[in-house]
Amino acid sequence: MTTVFKFGGASIKDADAIRHLTPLIEDHKDRPLVVVVSAMGKTTNKLETLLAAARDEHRSDDYRKCFEALQAEHREAIESLFDDAQDSPAERVDALFDELDAQHQKHRGAAYAKHYDQTVCYGELISTTIVAAWLNHQGTATDWHDARELVRTDACHQAANLDWPATAEAIGERLAGSDRVILTQGFIGGTAQGAATTLGREGSDFSAAIFAHCLDAREVVIWKDVTGLYNADPRRFDNAVQLERISYGEATELAWHGAKVIHPKTLGPLQEKAIPLTVRSFETPDAAPTVIDAERRFDADVPCCILRENQVWLEVRPRDFAFMDEPRQHDILGHLVEAGLHANLVDSGAMRFAICLDDKPERLAPMIESLEGDYAVRHEDSLTLLTVRHPRQGMMDALGADRETLVERRNDTTAQRLFRSRDCPETWHIPD
Ligand code: ADP
Ligand code: ASP
Ligand code: MG
Repeated sequence: MTTVFKFGGASIKDADAIRHLTPLIEDHKDRPLVVVVSAMGKTTNKLETLLAAARDEHRSDDYRKCFEALQAEHREAIESLFDDAQDSPAERVDALFDELDAQHQKHRGAAYAKHYDQTVCYGELISTTIVAAWLNHQGTATDWHDARELVRTDACHQAANLDWPATAEAIGERLAGSDRVILTQGFIGGTAQGAATTLGREGSDFSAAIFAHCLDAREVVIWKDVTGLYNADPRRFDNAVQLERISYGEATELAWHGAKVIHPKTLGPLQEKAIPLTVRSFETPDAAPTVIDAERRFDADVPCCILRENQVWLEVRPRDFAFMDEPRQHDILGHLVEAGLHANLVDSGAMRFAICLDDKPERLAPMIESLEGDYAVRHEDSLTLLTVRHPRQGMMDALGADRETLVERRNDTTAQRLFRSRDCPETWHIPD
């Protein structure tokens, strides 16, 4: 039966990290093994910077500088890995950089989202070309596959929706039954017309779930720089503890509320086929992992905290003395859908409708301007939303002590408080 591994940017950030990959793959003897890989390190961020420069006619020097720096980083990794010119992917990678450059020239006048997908996808195309060459160089028989031809989507660029039947057919036809390592890209897909698409930032986890679902895999292993899923980001909470086992539903809630460790779309396709997801450390592979499956018994054992920073609170009121009734709420949410924004918290009253959102100025500013045509709009930025799943008695008050709570929401499983970021600590502590 198939196993799917997923490696994120940190696990292939440089030549040393890529070297470290071989034993993890070699130690897993069952085939087929599908290995889904992200772009190296922070390449996607750098490609976004490159894209911004490409779209600005006054920044051609910046564009060239960013392009060359990115190419140099990848060349350095290749030179460190391959002393044997015969196995080196240097020429193929240079050709991919040439293609990237050509795509920028071709799409610079096109809509942003389409230009984004035709260029940012090269992070993954390049990283997987290097990793596949490395595994073959090490004697691990590996086939490279182009996910643009396997993960079939609509043309909703930057947030493409899957065409599941076409994807299942393409993946089944090309990959089922292989006795080799199958190496492919996370995050990217393609339309029937051959345009590249992307599944949303951090979407490689979702890609792994897509391959697992379509191949009826036995297991998905996501290799991370943490030993598993914790009850809070261990970088931000000094007493975070690792969760041993939680359900698909609970993991989806954590991801949906902003736990950045797994993409929220990952769990659904796995749950449907009862495929367990293991989150494991690529640095200490023998450390006990977190298992996510159908078992719900442990979900409420430990409270889980999630921070969502860079939030904006938007209060919308009718200009006349009318109520904030359903047609008006519907209208406001329609603006949100059109802007492609997600409401992290909603609160409504007779004369107001209020929403907490991620601060994405390029989407938010035009939406506010358009809302101001019909409503009085007030907004405050630089806020932090704290969400706690299964809070203990008194916990929210302890977490809110010493700072003003701007908004609070609570139901039987989840509590949320909104704070000013300047009142929040850099490192948090989960109260007993
Ligand atoms: P990758 O690039 O492999 O997808 P990410 O950086 O997206 O890896 O995810 C790993 C990071 O997620 C960790 O370094 C950690 O700081 C952060 N993180 C946030 N919330 C959690 C959590 N609840 N449990 C574990 N890690 C978390
Ligand atoms: N490389 C993409 C990103 O940085 C996808 C991923 O890493 O999951 O968002
Ligand atoms: Mg990630």
